[in-house]
Amino acid sequence: MSASPNDARRVRTRVAPSPTGDPHVGTAYVALVNYCFAKQHGGDFLLRIEDTDQARSTPESEQAILAALRWTGLSWDEGPDVGGPHGPYRQSERSKIYKRYADELLEKGHAFRCFCTPERLDAMRAAQRAAGTQQKYDGLCAGIGAEESARRAAAGEPYVVRMKIPATGVCVVNDVARGPVPFDYSSVDMQVLLKSDGLPTYHLANVVDDHLMEITHVIRGEEWMSSAPKHLLLYEYFGWEPPVLMHLPLLRNPDKSKLSKRKNPTGILFYQRMGYLPEALLNFLGLLLAPAPEGQEIFGVDDLTKRLDLAKISLGGPVFDVAKLDWLNGQYLRAISTEELLERTLAWGFDRARVARIASLAKSRVERLSDLVPSTAYLFAGCVAVTKESFAGTKLPVDEIRKALALAMWRLDAERTFDMAAVERVLKGVGETLGVKFRDLSRVYYVAMTGSATALPLFDSMELLGRDIVRERLRVALEALGGVTAKEQKEWGHS
Ligand code: GLU
Repeated sequence: MSASPNDARRVRTRVAPSPTGDPHVGTAYVALVNYCFAKQHGGDFLLRIEDTDQARSTPESEQAILAALRWTGLSWDEGPDVGGPHGPYRQSERSKIYKRYADELLEKGHAFRCFCTPERLDAMRAAQRAAGTQQKYDGLCAGIGAEESARRAAAGEPYVVRMKIPATGVCVVNDVARGPVPFDYSSVDMQVLLKSDGLPTYHLANVVDDHLMEITHVIRGEEWMSSAPKHLLLYEYFGWEPPVLMHLPLLRNPDKSKLSKRKNPTGILFYQRMGYLPEALLNFLGLLLAPAPEGQEIFGVDDLTKRLDLAKISLGGPVFDVAKLDWLNGQYLRAISTEELLERTLAWGFDRARVARIASLAKSRVERLSDLVPSTAYLFAGCVAVTKESFAGTKLPVDEIRKALALAMWRLDAERTFDMAAVERVLKGVGETLGVKFRDLSRVYYVAMTGSATALPLFDSMELLGRDIVRERLRVALEALGGVTAKEQKEWGHS
């Protein structure tokens, strides 16, 4: 394929994570392909933080995403942490820019102010649902004249800005891997571009930034495919050249369902805490982008940069097969020198501060130095063996145990920071919800965390294990007891 829509342009790609949760392996996968493609063409790779969703974005999540991506070994030429000539690289710092472009669309008649109240929109959607028609804005405010629209806005009536969509016709999205994909305009919603608080939605910010940051190739997950017609229309309205588009197939669980943390750990930091080497993780993701014949499966990012062919990326869902990752990681571990293995191991889980804390917790519980390792082994392990029988000593019925594990897992997920205080608050809160004495409940968590009913203090242990390992141990324990049904998930307040 051509290097860019207009060969004179320097290739520039980006990864644009939204800081609304834990760093996801899908983000590393998207970053990897964008990095390799840019470098293959001697271009630039950028990192942009898309934090337009103010309710869900957090600085903690942004920090974690940056740290996790840095851990993979990938680097970016421009970004919020390294700067660059097209900054700021955090959308929340660019609101004035988006407002200007929304105004331009209003002036040109490509967008309109929508004064519909939430009540009217709810009623409209309810009617559409009842009629079994597609849920989208019905266009009421698109008919308001420019003068009236400006007058109502000046009078302080709240409004959002929506883009106009042609009533008829087809938008063809040319996707590198899929070829031309037609979308009927009649099925495209009049997307909100600017919210009533004057802040942009993802769609406006994304298009404006990709243009201003001179992005030539947008390579992103396939969940954004349906947004592409809106984006292409915005490029047309502004009179800008659109980037080349490529939508990557989503990562899958081995059963081919969409990779989700219900079935598999999806956090980059989980794989870090488990002791996978970042090179092995990138190699593994690289194999999903550019499969290699047996015997040639070990390659680094530089090799991938040479081999990558966007047009040849298979659209059949790439399976995140942990067994394959295990094999690869083993290969990498065997290939490094003993000296390096030692360095990496110490850096991974044996830094002085961590070991000192563990030793001070263990001190009062051991008689001999030789007790230290067995009594703290669960703090260094990835997973611990837990079966239904492991819970036999707890006084609670199985259904209560399952609920205790599930509630703890979900509520800890929702905590911004993961530390002893948060763990204590959440677990004691579960005790209150269940009406169970914490002393009885704590045994359940001891078993899930350690495989046995005794250990070092629970809250310290969980903080030391970290969010990702704790989550996985809760999940595995829950699975050992039969998991949670969709009905229970609802009843227990997790939608
Ligand atoms: N912020 C979007 C995300 O979180 C980026 C989508 C895109 O690359 O356009 O995936």
